[in-house]
Amino acid sequence: MRESGRLVAQCFDLLRHNIRPGITLRELDQKVAALIEERGALPLYKGYRGNPPSHPPFPGVICASVNHEICHGLPNGRVLKEGDIVGIDIGLKYNGYCGDACVTFAVGRISPRAQRLLDVAQECLRRGIAAAQPGRYVSDIGAVIQLYAESQGYSVVREWGGHGIGRNLHEAPSVPHVGPGGQGPRLRPGMVFTIEPMINEGVPDWTLLKDGWTVVTNDGKLSAQFEHTVAITEDGPIILSQL
Ligand code: MG
Repeated sequence: MRESGRLVAQCFDLLRHNIRPGITLRELDQKVAALIEERGALPLYKGYRGNPPSHPPFPGVICASVNHEICHGLPNGRVLKEGDIVGIDIGLKYNGYCGDACVTFAVGRISPRAQRLLDVAQECLRRGIAAAQPGRYVSDIGAVIQLYAESQGYSVVREWGGHGIGRNLHEAPSVPHVGPGGQGPRLRPGMVFTIEPMINEGVPDWTLLKDGWTVVTNDGKLSAQFEHTVAITEDGPIILSQL
């Protein structure tokens, strides 16, 4: 799983060098698809239909969610422009094991308002990971995320949580990004799951667009997401989806 996570991180490294005003989401998708194929891994979102299957097959290798899009945006011909923020989510299987992560990138120079949202969303993930200690409860993770996000004037989307991950992309347990703490299974060494809070500038409420995938904020305000695949060890959490 460390190797799978490292490959996911390499995809983000590639994106970091390519995201700029003028590039399309489809071009980013193609670059990541090429790297995943070159390494002999399998992209997990392409053709995905949800669980249970309820969506049209997902058309891309990456999810690309721009500005007020919360998640599951389609990597289409949209051209990124200066000041946008774009959340990219990548899931893949490599040597039989899955890796999953999300980063929200700034496109060129962004407003202080957008930068603050990115900073807080990243800090939410960092605090969530720090709370993932053996012996604590799974919902303690969401409790610290919610506390911090709301203390900064933001909201947390409730309907998507992190998930166990291993040979399959989605396994038990589910990992809520809101409290209360003290619930759900206790964390123990050997567990591997994602933590992936979606943090909104305004209301947490959302709408699914007619394309069957893209989720947007109801008030049109910005949303940002960061995600890592995290393993619980006796010494605490370790991030698998990094270089
Ligand atoms: Mg995930």
